[in-house]
Amino acid sequence: MQSLTNRSVVVRKREMSFMEKLYLPAILGGMALTIKHLFKKKVTNKYPEVKRIFAPIYRGVHVLKRDEQGRENCTACGLCAVSCPAEAITMVAAERKQGEENLYREEKYAATYEINMLRCIFCGLCEEACPKDAIYLTDRLIESKYNRKSFFYGKDLLVEKIDERIDISKRKKNYKMA
Ligand code: SF4
Ligand code: SF4
Repeated sequence: MQSLTNRSVVVRKREMSFMEKLYLPAILGGMALTIKHLFKKKVTNKYPEVKRIFAPIYRGVHVLKRDEQGRENCTACGLCAVSCPAEAITMVAAERKQGEENLYREEKYAATYEINMLRCIFCGLCEEACPKDAIYLTDRLIESKYNRKSFFYGKDLLVEKIDERIDISKRKKNYKMA
């Protein structure tokens, strides 16, 4: 039947030539191509010994930032969770008690905060939605794990350590201010 586009081609079976029937030229040609690649520059890295340099706007594992005084910036407003297209973020808000001013910057904070890394598509919308400078994506990679539960990242993995701050200035400069 004639196709609508008129682009169909009738394929005819062609007899193989004597050289083609020998197969040797094709085999040698294939081997030459393989050998040629042995001497070319490798495109693969020996990860994890050799790590690739990421672009400043690379979107990896999130960090929940602290302010200069070490207090958690997040106020559990929920905007990141609402803006997340993968519904990967959940949290429980709590009121800051007296004496906890050195722990949390705002009167409300996230008692629990969790990102399901199996759902996350690293789009960065949570970072854009945050009005408190609290959540950023970093160039850190997710470690391989053997069970699904390990990919639920809680505050223990997300909040930056007081003595181990994560520099997001490059990301701010190259992405947020753009
Ligand atoms: S990066 Fe995107 S998918 Fe991942 S938690 Fe943030 S908003 Fe959700
Ligand atoms: S990370 Fe930002 S957007 Fe998300 S709950 Fe905390 S303050 Fe709100």
